[in-house]
Amino acid sequence: MFLEVEKIPPKGLELDLNIVINKVLLVEGRTEGPVKAHIKFKRKGDRVRAWGSVNAKIILTCSRCAEEFPYTVDSSFNLHVLPIYYLSEGEISLEEGDMDTTFYREGKIAVERLISDQINLSIPMKPLCKPDCKGICPVCGVNRNKMDCGHSEKIIDPRLSPLKTLLEVKNGTA
Ligand SMILES: [Zn+2]
Ligand SMILES: [Zn+2]
Repeated sequence: MFLEVEKIPPKGLELDLNIVINKVLLVEGRTEGPVKAHIKFKRKGDRVRAWGSVNAKIILTCSRCAEEFPYTVDSSFNLHVLPIYYLSEGEISLEEGDMDTTFYREGKIAVERLISDQINLSIPMKPLCKPDCKGICPVCGVNRNKMDCGHSEKIIDPRLSPLKTLLEVKNGTA
């Protein structure tokens, strides 16, 4: 969905959306169900301020155990939305450079893109299904959250294994 900048009235515009976000717009995962967004727009000439909140449930893949898990995005934002040619013409003010700034083309704000940007910003770099996810066993490949395979955490360097045998002999374990 696109919002024509010229159609934002002087008193501003408020949108309450339930929107389906295309998976291709997300850096990771997929949304589950529609995304809720509440956005206010105010315009001064062709400079637009957009602020509000995005609420979404997304399905991510854990970076340790590779299982999918639900992740809740609940973020608020405050953006400057400027015509893209401001970039090349150096029209961006200091304040705008400081705050989050995004751009629009051909007089239209891509609302779906604006929302997906906010979701992407809240996706963790290394998603974890839970903070203490035990991951996958490097020896046998089981998901250690589901099963205790009994393999030790440490992988013993094969160059050190004669030493290990020696120690076990000494301790009477071998
Ligand atoms: Zn995990
Ligand atoms: Zn194992």
